[in-house]
Amino acid sequence: MGARLARPFFGGNWKMNHGPNAARAFVEAFSGLYAARDDRTVVFFPPAISLTEFLHAAQGRPDLRLGVQDVYWEREGAFTGSISAPMAKEAGAAFVLAGHSERRHVFGDSDEDVARKVKAIVAEELVPVLCVGERLEERERGDVETVVRRQVELGLGPLEREAIGKTVIAYEPVWAIGTGRTARPEDASAVHSLIRGLLVDRVGADVARDIPIIYGGSVKSGNIDELLAAPEVDGVLVGGASLKPAEFARICSAGPR
Ligand code: PEP
Repeated sequence: MGARLARPFFGGNWKMNHGPNAARAFVEAFSGLYAARDDRTVVFFPPAISLTEFLHAAQGRPDLRLGVQDVYWEREGAFTGSISAPMAKEAGAAFVLAGHSERRHVFGDSDEDVARKVKAIVAEELVPVLCVGERLEERERGDVETVVRRQVELGLGPLEREAIGKTVIAYEPVWAIGTGRTARPEDASAVHSLIRGLLVDRVGADVARDIPIIYGGSVKSGNIDELLAAPEVDGVLVGGASLKPAEFARICSAGPR
C-alpha cells in the first residue's frame, strides 16, 4: 500500500462559524485567491443555514464542493434542531461529516449513532466523511489502535463493499483538534496505515486503496506540506484555518502540481 491518491482532498469544516453573510463574503474573497484546479477535491462544510448563500455566491465555481457537518438518521419528523440527509441533498450538499469528535464528545453521539448516520447518508448517495480519532488519555494508555479500530468498524457498520468504496475516512486525533497541537506526520501515517489495513481486510485491496484517508487536527499553511507528503495521508480536514480565505487558499494550493 502507500500509493498516493491522484486527487488530494481538502475539507474546510467551519463548525459553528460563518452565518449566511459571512459565508458569502468568504466565498467572494476565496474565489479570488484560489482558482479552480482539476487535480484536487475542495469541500466546504459550512453551518447548514449558510448552504444556500454559499451556493449562490459560488455560482460559476462548481469545483467548490459542499457538505454538511452532521445529519440525523431519520428522513423527517419531530426531531427539533436536526436536519436529515435528504434535506442536505436537496440543499446542494454532496458530502456529510459523520462522527466528528465534537459530535461525539460535546453532543454524545455513540458509535451506534454514527453508524445510523452513515447508513442514512449512503442511502441518499451522499459521501460520508467518517471521522475517527482517539482522545489524549487513550493515546497515553496505548489504546490508539483499539479506539480507531472500534470507530472504523462500528461506524461503517454493515455497509456493503461498494458503499464503503465511496466513503472518506478522516483521522482526527481529539487532542489535536483546535489545540494548535498537530500530530507528527509519522504518527498520522502510522494510524492511516492501520486504517488502510482495516479497510483492506473489509473490502479488499483494490477497493481500499482508493478510499481517501485524510488527516485533521490543527492543520495550517505552515504544516500542510509535511502532512501531505506523509505516506497514506490523502488530504486534510481543516477547522480553524479554513475560516480565513487567504489561509485556506494557501492550504488548498499545497501539494503536488
Ligand atoms: C476539525 O474541526 O475537523 C478540525 C480538525 O479542527 P482544527 O483544524 O481547528 O483543529
